[in-house]
Amino acid sequence: PTKCALKHHVAAMAFPFGSHPIALLNLVKKLAMAAPDTQFSFLSTEDSNNFLFSASKATDLPNNIKPCNVSDGVPMNQVFSGPPIERVDLFVKATPDNFRKGLELAATEMGQISCLITDVFLVFAGAIAEDLNVPWIPLWICLPHSLSAHIYSDKIRQICASGGNGGDTESSSKGKILETIPGLAKINIEDLPVEALNDKKSLFSSMLKQIGNVLPQATALVMSFYKELYPESLLDDLKSRCPSLLNVGFVTVTIPPPPLPLSNTDATGCLSWLDSQKTMSVAYICFGTVVNFPHNEIKELAEALQESRIPFLWSLRENLRGILPDGFTERTSLHGKVVPWAPQAQVLAHKSIGVHVTHCGANSVYESIANGIPMICRPGVFADNLTNAKITEDIWKVGVRVDGGVFTKNGVIKCLELIMVHEQGRKIRRNVQDLQELLLQAAAPNGHAAQDFKTLVEILSSNHAL
Ligand code: UDP
Repeated sequence: PTKCALKHHVAAMAFPFGSHPIALLNLVKKLAMAAPDTQFSFLSTEDSNNFLFSASKATDLPNNIKPCNVSDGVPMNQVFSGPPIERVDLFVKATPDNFRKGLELAATEMGQISCLITDVFLVFAGAIAEDLNVPWIPLWICLPHSLSAHIYSDKIRQICASGGNGGDTESSSKGKILETIPGLAKINIEDLPVEALNDKKSLFSSMLKQIGNVLPQATALVMSFYKELYPESLLDDLKSRCPSLLNVGFVTVTIPPPPLPLSNTDATGCLSWLDSQKTMSVAYICFGTVVNFPHNEIKELAEALQESRIPFLWSLRENLRGILPDGFTERTSLHGKVVPWAPQAQVLAHKSIGVHVTHCGANSVYESIANGIPMICRPGVFADNLTNAKITEDIWKVGVRVDGGVFTKNGVIKCLELIMVHEQGRKIRRNVQDLQELLLQAAAPNGHAAQDFKTLVEILSSNHAL
């Protein structure tokens, strides 16, 4: 029986790494504004919540969202020396107990929980929702193609074992073999997320392997994507796997962009700096929230920016700044700006941006196409970056990959000239502007995404007893 008759209490549970919590919080913000009578709890680890809800990032936070911390599973005095997966596995080991405790606390404070909305990666959430007798709404934040790679990971591994990846280098035969996997017909095995292929026994890989099995438990699967962008076989396949598929549109970007960004969302002064630059002249560079590139590549990129003299805005995490060549920021201060964080979605909407140099995280690719900005791709070898680069360059044809997949001074200068000066670049820009136009229609108030978002709000706002 519900104790909070006037207010529903939706608990959002984040996978606390990379951009996952950023994307979930963006969706929760949109929902909190659309359902002001509903209370939202946002469960993530302390580090993740401190980052998301820090004063400079949480400027537009509706007051019906409350952060709740759950344990990250890291023992006291733990020193991390191995690969980043160590931290992820400690967190996975702490699940689901950490979330169950967090949910109990949230319910005590803000009333009985009426719905769970979670990252798809948290595959145990369906069982928790069943115990609570409430709907479970998982969110997939990447391109649907990589969800297919996880769902079909066993089959893909079989394909690899039976020769597709067996030593010969004929990538054409590999591509052909994946024709049997929905949405991946044009994707080569080597472009798939390593986690989907990795048979090693990390707790994280085991969790991801269960995604396909748990989807039928969902009341609705929410995709940060537009129906209009799917390969048809993939849309049909996903629809057949869960009771309802809601394509609510990209969650980290507003289409069209809001006319006047709030100046207090621009703590690092990016937008005012862009105001002083010429239309479509600036290269925006960013590698997302987690990827680290080899130091020599960062140096090569810096040298390319210095030599080409193209205006640039570089969001470079503080821990990587020391890698820049000595005196780089001083030497380039007349045509460049390096910041530890940029309001990226707003930056990409600025008329001065001409090209986006990206690691091809899904949200970065979405924000680029939503604003009609062509990409220079240097995909990380991590997560879905390679798949996204492949789709960006070869399927959507809205970007170009750097030679050899790594930054070299000459390779970067070549790509910058290609996009900013050459006919091939103009063609790529037209393609991305066409895609932007498609998105403008898809995101219109009467479009599919708005309808699916409305359905989602209805599920959250109904007294949905299961
Ligand atoms: N982001 C931002 N400012 C920055 C760096 C990143 O706003 O300076 C945001 C970016 O807009 C995107 C997210 O962080 O929404 C990064 O997500 P993506 O999927 O591109 O990459 P990931 O961090 O998961 O590798």
